[in-house]
Amino acid sequence: MISIPSPLRLRLDSAALVANWRWLAAQGGGAACGAAVKANGYGLGARAITHRLAAAGCRDFFVATWAEAAALMPLPGDVSLSVLHGVGEDDMVAARTLPARPVLNSVEQVRRWRAAGEGRPCDVMIDTGMSRLGLRIDEALGGALGGLDVETCLATLASADEDSEQNSRQLAAFRQVRDAIPARRYSLANSAGICLGADYGFDLTRPGIALYGGTPRAEAVGHIRQVAFPEARVLQVRSVRAGETVGYGASWTAPRDCRIAVTNLGYADGFLRCHAGTASAVWQTRALPLVGRVSMDLTAFDATDAGAIGEGDWLRLDYDLPAVSAASGLSQYELLTGLGNRFERVWI
Ligand SMILES: *Cc1c(COP(=O)(O)O)cnc(C)c1O
Repeated sequence: MISIPSPLRLRLDSAALVANWRWLAAQGGGAACGAAVKANGYGLGARAITHRLAAAGCRDFFVATWAEAAALMPLPGDVSLSVLHGVGEDDMVAARTLPARPVLNSVEQVRRWRAAGEGRPCDVMIDTGMSRLGLRIDEALGGALGGLDVETCLATLASADEDSEQNSRQLAAFRQVRDAIPARRYSLANSAGICLGADYGFDLTRPGIALYGGTPRAEAVGHIRQVAFPEARVLQVRSVRAGETVGYGASWTAPRDCRIAVTNLGYADGFLRCHAGTASAVWQTRALPLVGRVSMDLTAFDATDAGAIGEGDWLRLDYDLPAVSAASGLSQYELLTGLGNRFERVWI
C-alpha cells in the first residue's frame, strides 16, 4: 500500500473533547454524563471519540442506527450503547446479535421487541412535547410497556437552546413520567438541556454538540473548547492584478494587485457556498479572507499580506462553531456533520 497524503485534514483535540465532557458532567448534578456519537460522532469519528471518552470515564453512548452501532464494535469494556431509532422490522437480526439496546419509540416497536421474546433490557423514549419519536404519555401509562425490562427511560427537550416556557413544561411532564413508568434510570437533557441546570439532569445526560465544541447556550460560553480544526493545503499561490476577477461568476474583483492562495477545499467537503463573503483562514498569524465563490474542490483566499506563503503550506480555517454559525446561517451541527471524508481525521 502506498500512503497518499491528504490535502485536507481535520485536527481533533483529544484534551478539549475530554475537558468538554468533564465540564458537562459537572453541570448535571448527580447525573452520569453520556455521549451522543451518532452520525459518526457528528462527523469527527465515533470510534475515536468513544474510546477517548470511555477512557475518561464515560459509560453511556448513543447512536442513531444499528449500522452505526455495528461500526463501533468491539466496544471498549464496560460501556453501554443505545440505538436511538429503536427497532424496525429489518433491524431485528442486528438487535439480537449486537451488544446494544434499542430505544423503543412507538407501541409498534415495543410489540416487535416483546415478540422477539429475548427479555433483554431496552430503553424507551417518551414523547413529552417533541412530537417526533417516542410513545405518547397516555400510551406509556396505558400499559403499553408492561413486562419490559427498561434500563433507561428517555425524553427529548424540544427548545432547550431557547428560553422557552416549553422547557419547564417538559421538565414537569418528565417528572410525572419518572413517577409513573418503572425504569432503572431516567434521562432528559442534551447539551442545551444540561445548561438549563441540574434539575434537568435526572440520572443520565446525553450531550452531543457541546462535546465537540458547540456552544448551545450562553451558560456554556467560556467553558466549551473548540475540538475540530479544519485545515486545507495551498495548491497554488498566484498573482492577480487590480481589476481582475477570481473564480466562477467573477464574483470578486481584486481591488489592488493581490496574491491569491488557492486551496484544496470545496463544497464537496462540506465547506458550503454560504461561507463566501464571511469565512477566513489563518496562515501563521495572518488572517486570509475568502475571496470569490466556493467551488466543488477549490476555495481561494486573499494572501496578499502573507509574505512567504507558498504551495504546500497549510491554512487553518476559522471554524469557531458559534461564530461561523452566526456568519454563515448554518447550524453548529451542520458545520460539523457536513465535513466530508476527504478530510483526514488527525487526533492530537
Ligand atoms: C442527538 C441527540 C442528543 C444530543 O443532542 P445535542 O443537542 O447534540 O447535545 C441527545 N439525545 C438524543 C435523543 C439525541 O438524538
